[in-house]
Amino acid sequence: MERVDCVVIGAGVVGLACARALAQAGREVLILEATERFGSGISSRSSEVIHAGLYYPTNSWRARLCMAGRQALYAYCAERPIPHRRTGKLLVATDDAQLPQLDAIASRAAANGVTGLSRLHADEAVALEPELRCVGALLSPDTGIIDSHALMLSLLGDAEAAGATLVTHSPVLRGERIASGFALEVGGDASLKLHARSVVNAAGLGAVPLARRFGGLAEARLPKAHFAKGNYFTLQGKAPFSHLIYPIPEAAGLGVHLTLDLGGQARFGPDVEWIDAPDYGVAPTRAESFYPAVRRYWPDLPDGALLPAYAGVRPKIHGPEEAAADFMLLGPREHGAPGLVELFGIESPGLTSCLALADAVLAALGQHPWDKETRDSPTFP
Ligand SMILES: Cc1cc2nc3c(=O)[nH]c(=O)nc-3n(C[C@H](O)[C@H](O)[C@H](O)COP(=O)(O)OP(=O)(O)OC[C@H]3O[C@@H](n4cnc5c(N)ncnc54)[C@H](O)[C@@H]3O)c2cc1C
Repeated sequence: MERVDCVVIGAGVVGLACARALAQAGREVLILEATERFGSGISSRSSEVIHAGLYYPTNSWRARLCMAGRQALYAYCAERPIPHRRTGKLLVATDDAQLPQLDAIASRAAANGVTGLSRLHADEAVALEPELRCVGALLSPDTGIIDSHALMLSLLGDAEAAGATLVTHSPVLRGERIASGFALEVGGDASLKLHARSVVNAAGLGAVPLARRFGGLAEARLPKAHFAKGNYFTLQGKAPFSHLIYPIPEAAGLGVHLTLDLGGQARFGPDVEWIDAPDYGVAPTRAESFYPAVRRYWPDLPDGALLPAYAGVRPKIHGPEEAAADFMLLGPREHGAPGLVELFGIESPGLTSCLALADAVLAALGQHPWDKETRDSPTFP
């Protein structure tokens, strides 16, 4: 059996960030990716927004990792040739009944440690974005956009420079705890058995099913996997906006918002469509619900301007009728198996959080001294 110190399963933005952190901490790292290339899963189909951390329950993983991750990500992008821009974002209330929600989000953001937010009257928001219609807004200056593929390329480059190796076409089929680590069965082109001292399950949409094939470890704690597709439509022509525009969030997503790519192209989405299995087709008829949603904040959206673009799938660990779940990190504390960390439900803001998530994984593996408050948190793995 081949032996390796540490295996990271999945070469999305989270797996690559973990591999980089582990390799830079001196671990020998093998990244096993099921498909033919890195970054082709959830990470290739997001809004590519660097979130400020406004919405998430205070002290949740999502709130803490978004804050820490955003700061780390901007600092990382400043050192590297990773295209990104601090566009700022306007979160808008489109009728008076939404104003209390806007204020509640501002309070929660403050409790999460987000600074720099401004509460704007409608005329102040319209002065920034003349085509906008709203009754009030929050301006988040630290929200931005990033080229997520360039980020992943950079993370992979760093990981490889520190000695990590990426192997594609290598789905991990199952794992089993053994005396000094884990025995992994790897399929694909060169199927083999591997012995790893540490394993990080960062398999995105495949993480929960894979965990169920891990010798029954923490079976009772494993969440149920659900899939919520998010469809996007691009705007034909140039968008008359320079900020990202977000409505008040809805139950399972942030609402159909306007984001910009680094070339200035606007897209709208993602909506929320609960599905049984991942699929990425965008039905043109879904535009019917986008027009009224967008016209609440941009009444002049022209008829026929929205073109089907792409879809992503959120790796939910709560169902449509359940309360939104936090990121779930299962580490040795939960399953009693030293060396294993599993990541579930890493939906938004997983891209923003990737560097902080990697730190949390290192800490769970005993590699990194986190501050006492974080270590003592009940959710810390
Ligand atoms: C519609 C949408 C919009 C989003 N927008 C934003 C945003 O604007 N900002 C933000 O911060 N976050 C956003 N997110 C969240 C963010 O995109 C994800 O949190 C992040 O990309 C997850 O990365 P990952 O590495 O965990 O998963 P993935 O990118 O899916 O990587 C997992 C990898 O594991 C591989 N794999 C699966 N099973 C196996 C196996 N058994 N063996 C080996 N490999 C395996 C897969 O092929 C894949 O490459 C969005 C998500 C969605 C769905």
